Amino acid sequence: MFNGNLKLPSLKDLPPGTFNYQAVVDMLKECNINDPKYTEKMLKHSQRMESRFSPFKTLPCANVPPLDLIDSEACRKPGSKACGACKLVSYCSKECQNKHWKKHKGLCKSYMRSPDWIPEWVEERRLPDFLPANMHYDPATPEGGSDGGSPLWNTMPPVDLINLGSNEQDKTKDFNLAFVASGDLRSVMKTVNSLPDDFSGNLKIVINDQDHNVTWRNLVILLSLGRLSVDDGVAPDVALHFWFSLMMPEAHAVKAAAVNGDFVNSMQSQTGDSLKPYPLGPNSTIKAALSLETLQAYTLHMNMPRVGAWAQEGYDATRMDPARIDFWGRIYTFLRPSHRAAYHMYRRFGLVLPFGAVTAEFNFPNASLFTDKGKWLQNDHVIPLQGWNINEVIEAGKARGAHAEDIFGCLYFYLFDQLNTFAKRIQKFRIEFQLFPFEAETLSRSIQNDMLAQMDLGRCTVFDRIDVSNLLDHTSDGLKEVLTQWAPLLAEREDSAIVGYFKDWGVLQKDGRIVNADDAICTEALKVLMQKTQPIFRDSWDRLGKLYRGVTKAATFSLLKELDVVYENSKPFAQFLKERKAKHLLRKTQLQLRGVHRIVGPRLMVPIQAPHSAMPTFVDEDDCPMFVNGMNASDILQEQMHGPFKGICLWGNIPAMDLINLHDNENDVTKDFNIAFVATGDLRDVVKTVNSLPETYSGHLRVLLNDGTSPIACRNLVMLSLLGTIPDEKLAADVVLHLWYSTFIPAEYLVQMATAVAKFLDGPVERLTTSRPVGLHSTISWCYTPEAMERLMRITTLDPSSLSVADAQNEYDRVRQAPSRRDFMDRKYLRLKPSHRVALQEFRRFGIVLPFGAPNSHFNTPNGTLFSEDGRWMLRDFADPLEGWDIREIIAAGKACGAQPEDVYGCFYFYLTKQLRILANRIRKLKITFQLSNLEACALSKGIQGGHLESVGLPPTVRFDRIDLSNLFDSSYIGLHAALTSWAPLLSESNNAVVVGYFMSWFINERNGRASNTDAVVEIAKKVMSRHKAANVRNKEDTQTLLYKIQPDFDAVYENSKHFASFLKKQGLETLLKETNLRLREEHTVIPHRLGSPLKASSAALPSWPSDEDWYIYTALQDNTWAERFVEFSRI
Ligand SMILES: [Zn+2]
Ligand SMILES: [Zn+2]
Repeated sequence: MFNGNLKLPSLKDLPPGTFNYQAVVDMLKECNINDPKYTEKMLKHSQRMESRFSPFKTLPCANVPPLDLIDSEACRKPGSKACGACKLVSYCSKECQNKHWKKHKGLCKSYMRSPDWIPEWVEERRLPDFLPANMHYDPATPEGGSDGGSPLWNTMPPVDLINLGSNEQDKTKDFNLAFVASGDLRSVMKTVNSLPDDFSGNLKIVINDQDHNVTWRNLVILLSLGRLSVDDGVAPDVALHFWFSLMMPEAHAVKAAAVNGDFVNSMQSQTGDSLKPYPLGPNSTIKAALSLETLQAYTLHMNMPRVGAWAQEGYDATRMDPARIDFWGRIYTFLRPSHRAAYHMYRRFGLVLPFGAVTAEFNFPNASLFTDKGKWLQNDHVIPLQGWNINEVIEAGKARGAHAEDIFGCLYFYLFDQLNTFAKRIQKFRIEFQLFPFEAETLSRSIQNDMLAQMDLGRCTVFDRIDVSNLLDHTSDGLKEVLTQWAPLLAEREDSAIVGYFKDWGVLQKDGRIVNADDAICTEALKVLMQKTQPIFRDSWDRLGKLYRGVTKAATFSLLKELDVVYENSKPFAQFLKERKAKHLLRKTQLQLRGVHRIVGPRLMVPIQAPHSAMPTFVDEDDCPMFVNGMNASDILQEQMHGPFKGICLWGNIPAMDLINLHDNENDVTKDFNIAFVATGDLRDVVKTVNSLPETYSGHLRVLLNDGTSPIACRNLVMLSLLGTIPDEKLAADVVLHLWYSTFIPAEYLVQMATAVAKFLDGPVERLTTSRPVGLHSTISWCYTPEAMERLMRITTLDPSSLSVADAQNEYDRVRQAPSRRDFMDRKYLRLKPSHRVALQEFRRFGIVLPFGAPNSHFNTPNGTLFSEDGRWMLRDFADPLEGWDIREIIAAGKACGAQPEDVYGCFYFYLTKQLRILANRIRKLKITFQLSNLEACALSKGIQGGHLESVGLPPTVRFDRIDLSNLFDSSYIGLHAALTSWAPLLSESNNAVVVGYFMSWFINERNGRASNTDAVVEIAKKVMSRHKAANVRNKEDTQTLLYKIQPDFDAVYENSKHFASFLKKQGLETLLKETNLRLREEHTVIPHRLGSPLKASSAALPSWPSDEDWYIYTALQDNTWAERFVEFSRI
């Protein structure tokens, strides 16, 4: 067999003009690629081998048993009943479905298929990797990750190069066709399959591609189609998997190798000047001018190891490259959950097969997709679906029982049908295939110089059609090169044509692509887009804003690369041609540019004969190409938006508020209050509200604290009970501070917590609803779900089997020190003063709130309240204690205790200990009734109104002086309408009574809601820049870094009140207010309209900072987002 080290001369080494096919044949003999006897044996052997399952004639039942039982237990019936949840798999019967559920469940309920799925960059609140740091999307920048590689699969739709109906209209005519940069065989197949069934002409098809891997793969596919049996579907099935699947059944691989070996053998035995045609079926033939390189590639591949591990590894190295997570995230963003799962499955295993098909046999690597070093030949994002008509693909799938969700299954059936037709026509028609591995220019020159006479392509050869594909793009003067090379070879008939396309011209030409076009054009196109695709596109557009956290217009463009679909580019294109002297060129080559096309439309998704200025049209919304391969995204996005971000908010991220604000409201120190925190999150608002009461306050304060999330509710009960019952207030404050914020705590604190809580609970808690006295006059009562109580018992029991220190540290590091989060953290660090950078880094490393440099070795026990049952650290990796409090107060408190502002977590330590001591003291002294519940917000209101919570002191008659709905108003929670209608009935009639809350993500539904989306963004950037200049801009900082650094602050200088008003209007606020008997306050008395603006300022007031230092601590150190709007509703 061939020795891989043998140095073969390449075609280029041969003297010019002396290409001699005999030389190749001789070389072949020397290499002794295939022993004829061996080939013969192979052929016989391969005929005996059969795949046990493939091809699939219809969708198979997905009840696939474990590998070792495949033969005895595999269900061979067709799958007719789809899994209702995912529709990715079908079963023959209920019985099979039940049997298989255990296995299928994992996939069906996987995260990929979850409506909560979000791309990692959203989850991590960072810019996606595919956005350059300057946030300007440059279409000329390559997508990256392609890493060269051979394009073995085309990505453009196949072309019927003859299109007989619109041209010659003669079923008996002979055709000479040339695909001079063929890529794969799709256009050849489409052209042959599009001919009428009774076509009787001779076809001569030249298939050339300079990539020798492409050429020999095309050869193998044609040989398989022409030589293997068509009737049982083996020929199309072998061709299909050889073309598109990472692995094949061994029987398939052996069959492909055998027919190929026989072909090479027949070439070896040739003598004389002319190459004998090799038969494909009774009528057709093939000749292949295999260059030495092609043969070398072929032999090397045929000698690759037969065991699949290397192929899977090589594939994974490219497909699963961690650096490309965001790229895939972008693709997945547009997919429905089941399509996401299907794509992910394909990306992992690379098999074009029905989702539920038996894959046990697919263990034989398809070496033709790899280099001889085992590297995947293509880029990481090429997908076999690209280019095919997605509606036809889905139809083909449906005809065999597959649902559209099983998109690769549909593709399997579609390709099978196409290849089957192609194979049958190779048998029936008279087709002469001629394969070449040349540069297009070499091919043209060789024909014209009569060097291919032995291939039957003498100097007089002319073609009826020449497909030059995107060779027009290949050099800066591709048009000139292609036309001068190929015009002489075009037959002088009216129907003859050279067909090709420009892909990259838009980048070179001013206004060629929409993102390069003037703003006015851009805006106009956007308008058109909005009108055309209402409501679906508009909807997605708005939601995308949130996916990107409204980064910039440019960012959104980058996602919507396909925005060009609404851009009429015929004029810039005409200009592009003009600048390449097209007129002169046409005169010289005696060609004309067709005004009305006859082969392929002037643009994708445009009818063939449409004018050049025609715009793509879509049969229905599902065809819109912005959704990957025609899949529509709107509903998925909707689902995603409603899913919470991963990780829960055990620490608030909006500064604490005083919900009563006595001084600006009732101003009566004896008044009793009923206040409700409906979605409390942590205790910070309670701390702030209780501690802000005057020393002299003597009323009875009832505080309802609800949170639907068990771990949060649990922690709140633990912390309140500790504050109320640990005798030493100072110790109580310290224990609570660390339970709240430190990932590791001293062991004795755990004991303190356990004993105090046990004492507080006073025996087994069978009843979920209980009340306990604390201090002199206060009580804590709670009404919790069983899960919450279970969790409470678990975290307060000193269970030695619980989380180990090492496991907790590893888990904490996994989240906090994830390498993938480097860029995210760097962005934050970039904005910080050096000492703060160090302080933050230290906090992220150890997770302990203490003055910098304080001894912390005794903080060596995991804080179980921050970990889930299965040992996960429950917060998001960017969670930061500083975000829940007023940073100025933190620094002031630190200073008072001798800490420098640089030691900001030290300051925080002093600040919070003090606040918690005050709260502990007030719980003991004042009369406070805490009523804790663990219900969904609307359910809680219903429960109270229905009298179900009377036992915890919440009778139906209860009315609240303040109701804090937090950000339940956001549509990602329960939304404005549900929140207000549920809670307005429970608001007291008093003048000062108020419902407060805020909107965090309102701007996604409002144009101009965020600064970075507006036209004024440049002005805004200037404003922010001037603040930063004064604050902390290092010299010599490049613009990109600077922009990157200041972009989060844009909203801080952006007046958004009008847009917010318009947003509220669209939410149906007016009707809602009438319905609930409420009014929206212009003058607030509890919380300012925006973070950082004065309490009584107008709704248009901007956040304000007296000093540059304030600007820094609020924007950089605290990392606020500034787009939030707070609202107050009171009685009319
Ligand atoms: Zn399912
Ligand atoms: Zn079955």
